[in-house]
Amino acid sequence: MSSILSQSSCGVCQIHADPIQKERYEISRNGFWVVRHHPDPVPLPGWLLLDAYRHLGGSVDFNAEEAKAWGGAVQRASNLVQQLTACQRVYAIAFGEGARHLHLHLIPRVTTDPASEAWKIADLYRAVMGGKCAAAPPNAVEALVRQTRELWGGFGEAN
Ligand SMILES: [Zn+2]
Repeated sequence: MSSILSQSSCGVCQIHADPIQKERYEISRNGFWVVRHHPDPVPLPGWLLLDAYRHLGGSVDFNAEEAKAWGGAVQRASNLVQQLTACQRVYAIAFGEGARHLHLHLIPRVTTDPASEAWKIADLYRAVMGGKCAAAPPNAVEALVRQTRELWGGFGEAN
């Protein structure tokens, strides 16, 4: 696989390089990971993404340092979702199909909301993306991103 070709056509790499996306949604980045809010439209405020900084398809492609750092990064980003949303659980889903670049969806699961239970979250996602269901208000997402940037420092280094 040509990594140069993959990177130039990769949606996640393009988001990482886009100053507008960075200003609007990014929470943190270091040499291993990028933490960002899911871009609008998004079904739920507080739906975060934990991306590999490097262009790689998934955990099978981690180098030794990335493999060692992954657990701590997932836990810190999940803790952040929980603190932001007061959810009871945090779902973690990574397909890597829309972009073949690891982007772990960290989804707030509020147990009183039946529409977001288990695989129903996929139905909700499709309904929002298809315009059949209201997305989270963009101004609420923007405010949450600002709040999240302040909170992130309290979770230590993101690697
Ligand atoms: Zn990429």
